[in-house]
Amino acid sequence: MTAAYDDSNIFAKILRDEIPSVRVYEDENCIAFMDVMPQTAGHTLIVPRAPSRNLLDADPNVLSKVIPVVQKIAQAAMKAFNADGIQLRQFNEAPSGQTVYHLHFHIIPVYAGVEFQMHAAKMEDMDILKANAEKLKAAL
Ligand code: 5GP
Repeated sequence: MTAAYDDSNIFAKILRDEIPSVRVYEDENCIAFMDVMPQTAGHTLIVPRAPSRNLLDADPNVLSKVIPVVQKIAQAAMKAFNADGIQLRQFNEAPSGQTVYHLHFHIIPVYAGVEFQMHAAKMEDMDILKANAEKLKAAL
């Protein structure tokens, strides 16, 4: 068993607009915003509005609504950032790499020959995040 969902996590606060995020998309089921510590240019997070700690306790009905948005963001990221590929990442519990305990999907553009930054390690300049968000929104 894993721990119960705790709504004091940072993504729950972003969902409640208690802290800012650079959003690129939202609908009744989820929001998408730029990762503040991107592993490559254009790294984006898709976060369901429904509370769940991660994939393990998620409602399948929520997943069925959110996965098409994950695909939509991946397709737009390919175009917006002229990427060579996309990595979809999703971590479940700390030993796997999860650091924020509200379900989310990482869309990480891959550029041939460019190494990823460390996971959740270095804050990006806000102007760069905003510029990347504008590119992604234009491609959506
Ligand atoms: P996890 O390890 O839980 O899969 O990933 C959490 C992600 O959230 C990391 O990639 C990290 O850079 C990102 N992150 C952490 N805090 C914030 C924040 O306050 N705002 C945004 N936009 N991203 C965050």
